[in-house]
Amino acid sequence: MTHGLLGEEVVPTVAAAAPRRRSRRVEVRWGATCVAIGGGAPVVVQSMTNTDTADAVATAIQVKELAQAGSEIVRITVNTPEAAREVAAIREQLDRMGVSVPLVGDFHYNGHRLLTEYPDCAQALSKYRINPGNVGRGAKRDDNFAQMIEVACRWQKPVRIGVNWGSLDQELLAQMMDENARRSAPWDANAVLREALVQSALQSARRAEELGLPGDYIVLSAKVSGVQDLIAVYRELARRCDYPLHLGLTEAGMGTKGVVASTAALAVLLQEGIGDTIRVSLTPEPNEPRTKEVLVAQQILQALGLRAFTPQVIACPGCGRTSSSFFQELAAQIQQYLQAQMPVWRQQYPGVENLHVAVMGCVVNGPGESRHANIGISLPGTGEQPVAPVYIDGERTVTLKGEGIATQFQAIVEDYVRRKYGRAQA
Ligand code: SF4
Repeated sequence: MTHGLLGEEVVPTVAAAAPRRRSRRVEVRWGATCVAIGGGAPVVVQSMTNTDTADAVATAIQVKELAQAGSEIVRITVNTPEAAREVAAIREQLDRMGVSVPLVGDFHYNGHRLLTEYPDCAQALSKYRINPGNVGRGAKRDDNFAQMIEVACRWQKPVRIGVNWGSLDQELLAQMMDENARRSAPWDANAVLREALVQSALQSARRAEELGLPGDYIVLSAKVSGVQDLIAVYRELARRCDYPLHLGLTEAGMGTKGVVASTAALAVLLQEGIGDTIRVSLTPEPNEPRTKEVLVAQQILQALGLRAFTPQVIACPGCGRTSSSFFQELAAQIQQYLQAQMPVWRQQYPGVENLHVAVMGCVVNGPGESRHANIGISLPGTGEQPVAPVYIDGERTVTLKGEGIATQFQAIVEDYVRRKYGRAQA
């Protein structure tokens, strides 16, 4: 029995995400491809293009890039007749390129007309995203919403009812604010806004089911741009329905801020078992690839231990014990190398996404961390002998030295992958 410093009995804790919230299973299909959302399926990574959908070639190319990066569903804007007209052409180009990723059409304001007037578009899409705050006002709102649901029923397409607080149904919000003012102890305005988001999503889902859309054709989202608000809204949605939930911090922003805010929000919810599909809404820096949002989403899931997508490189941050940038360069080189191999390795070496490679800067933590990884290298810090021991599955194997350390280490990694994961395939 283990005891703590105060003599109390210590029970070892096991860190793991909470069991996934039980939800319905929604299937998003294109051809032989079927992506399941909810119902215990792995959390799905989604992304969205930023090309003009009317430019079919540019959009098809970007969809392909996103899919190759690992996006399992890709959303495209369908905002004009010109865009709607090109959707089938985009689908055809993707099919010709062997890219079967399902496409989701993002509709606002005129979706009822576009989906009705362009049946090829309605058919080529695998799912429709409807924002209940942007389908019209008054009686028109109900008619337009009903028209879109009717198209979804006709083509048997699932729908994401995607509420966003930047475009929340203003009539619903005004009504709820009035009701709140009559309360003996009114809620604060932010709480009313959060409740309006939840109600907008739930009421729209109920209405869609009344209109004939099966419950297992509905995914919900309610995106906001504040981390604490997002967590509060999704906890409430999760408590009050069993539709699968699409998570995302809307307008997360650029660079580090966008990555950290998205991670903070999504990690808390995923750890609680909430969330069946995710998107990381990053604003790309100029010339930054759109695929970054896919890689960040994958890293969030992989860091939480929910899914594995790509081998992980464990590298120390470096400190005063490392006087050269060699170990940083080696860590970056190995990471890029592993990432670049994945499109082929994923097919050739099943399980390789679970590989861990350690690149460490000196003897302090180098050997220890390297032993924990599948393959590790402990580079010499300042004043240490210029040799780099390599560890494989916990055992010290060879010691590298001289100019060719990087090339030799990469060859060791490649050989290990071939031996370990090539066997799994046989
Ligand atoms: S392993 Fe060595 S170089 Fe890396 S952070 Fe630790 S002490 Fe510094």
